[in-house]
Amino acid sequence: MKNIVENFLICVLPFGLVLLLGASYAGAQESVSVSTVREPAVIPKPMKMKVGKGYFILKAETRILVGEKAREVFGVGRYLSERLGPATGLSLVVQRTSKARPAAGSILLTTRNARQELGEEGYELTVTKDYVVLRAPRAAGLFRGVQTVRQLLPPPIESRAKLPGIEWTIPCVEIEDKPSFRWRGSLLDSCRHFLTKDFVKRYIDLLAYHKMNRLHWHLCEDQGWCIEIKKYPRLTEIGAWRGEGENRYGGFYTQEDVKEIVEYAKSRYIMVVPEIEMPGHCTAALASYPELACTGGPFEVSTRRGIHKEVYCAGNDKVFEFLEDVLSEVIELFPAPYIHIGGDECPKDRWKRCAKCQVRIKAEGLKNEDELQSYFIKRIEKFLLAKNRKLIGWDEILEGGLAPSATVQSWRGLKGAIAAARAGHDVIVSPTSHCYLDYTHNKTSLERVYSFEPVPEGLTPKGAKHILGGEGNMWTDRTAQELVDSWVFPRLTALAEVLWSQKDARDWKDFTGRMQEHYARLDVMGVNFYRPIPARRVARWQPGDISAAAKTFEWDITNHLGALGRGRDLFVIVVYGQGKHGVVVEGVELLEDGKEVERDEHKAFNGWSNLYATYRLALGYTRPEVSYKIRVKLRAKGGTNSWGSVWLSRHPFPPDIY
Ligand SMILES: [Zn+2]
Repeated sequence: MKNIVENFLICVLPFGLVLLLGASYAGAQESVSVSTVREPAVIPKPMKMKVGKGYFILKAETRILVGEKAREVFGVGRYLSERLGPATGLSLVVQRTSKARPAAGSILLTTRNARQELGEEGYELTVTKDYVVLRAPRAAGLFRGVQTVRQLLPPPIESRAKLPGIEWTIPCVEIEDKPSFRWRGSLLDSCRHFLTKDFVKRYIDLLAYHKMNRLHWHLCEDQGWCIEIKKYPRLTEIGAWRGEGENRYGGFYTQEDVKEIVEYAKSRYIMVVPEIEMPGHCTAALASYPELACTGGPFEVSTRRGIHKEVYCAGNDKVFEFLEDVLSEVIELFPAPYIHIGGDECPKDRWKRCAKCQVRIKAEGLKNEDELQSYFIKRIEKFLLAKNRKLIGWDEILEGGLAPSATVQSWRGLKGAIAAARAGHDVIVSPTSHCYLDYTHNKTSLERVYSFEPVPEGLTPKGAKHILGGEGNMWTDRTAQELVDSWVFPRLTALAEVLWSQKDARDWKDFTGRMQEHYARLDVMGVNFYRPIPARRVARWQPGDISAAAKTFEWDITNHLGALGRGRDLFVIVVYGQGKHGVVVEGVELLEDGKEVERDEHKAFNGWSNLYATYRLALGYTRPEVSYKIRVKLRAKGGTNSWGSVWLSRHPFPPDIY
């Protein structure tokens, strides 16, 4: 991993612009500009690509021609024009044409004479010096092909600002391309940390750029319910918020917001699959409507991570009435044929002791609480099928008997995938081993993600057909919006190639070669992708450690410094972990052999709304045989229920901190 990024830092970008990538932590880079022939570096790798000689050059008079009347195809043409506009300063005209052949100097988008075997999302792209032709059986294929066109242009094409002096070239190529898997997605958790509407749209754009086609949107949890349901207003009045006093935190999407996001995704040929969790992971809903639990509450929206014992009562018909009402509104908002109902990590403690749940077990002739969960899921599935929607659940829905037509999302390894596929059920794979983007990069490296094989060994070809595809899961338990990029990227890029490209074409060395240019593209787009910046955790605190009166903690950091690399400054980052209350950081001091040499005294609230409080201490060269300590002054705000940790880095905002 380290080598890749070092190479990347010294890479010379072969066009008239040099990007100072990562200069803030690597020192100033030499400005060099050369002009060479670029090898196309398309990610995910196309099925077939032949590179010819020469370029098509974008000019003010270049026209985008649309080969038919269909409004959808015209929309793809306009999308292309909009993407190319800001950096080039050109506003390329989009026009209809009745001709099947491209006019000189034009880019033709058409579904005419397309080869049907390219399927829903496949396309062919021909670039000559005189014209560009993008041909696909469906508008979705044209849209995927447009992403290839973007990646054939020099990386600055993604700039939002006009960049004069660049020749906007597309190398002559012939490409034939289509995806390996039809389900290529990412889970985004808007509950543990609320993600703004603009952030979600940007995420959709980044998925589209990598030819992904599913956004699995996680909308309710123990820690927050973040979708407006008109019939149950308390879900967002109460359930969308957690914490106390200054540490009150949360947010939700109105139904109008949801419609806007779904529409936005649709225009990028991305299906949004909502996840409404049941029967577990529902504390936020129970805090809003405690009568839906076995015990009746009262409950608070959770401020802690992990698995929670309070779940929906499976013996209470009001629960099903509630969930069916909620799902009815959700179905109205999401045209996707699938609804994800969670089904994971549902402890059975409450059901075992609940009279209503036990009555249900008897009345339905069920053996135990596992079968009660199965009853729960099957009952919901029946409702969804009647509404013309298919159910997806995490692999726990296999326990106690699978609902008849459910799709299983396998996350605890691939055992669930194998069992479900053998039983004739469709499967989405996202095992923690390769697809959990909230695991540290140390644990789940880019190379590991790239090595992922979605079709588990041991399946017959018939079973393998049930593997629809996979997802990269971004849970936000430990990450606020501002650091989501650094968990997701570049790993999502590798997953996109795993899911789109042909199995035989996947080659790690070739991929890392193409990534050099792709990093430059992500950088121009402002994607704060992961860079291996060392950071060390010095200490953690928990409720017993802090008080309303400020307390000074002192930690020896001598042994950590060597691992941090070099730099002019040492950054102390106080990272809020979880809890009801926040803390106030009153300042940080640096001691050399017990003597204070540096301090940063600014006050910062540290809580759900401000996860990272950063302090800067000037400390360049560290002398051997000298001991270094930091003092951190902390006080509890509004109560002492908080957890957190203190980190050191040479960078103010390192990744992989939590
Ligand atoms: Zn119950």
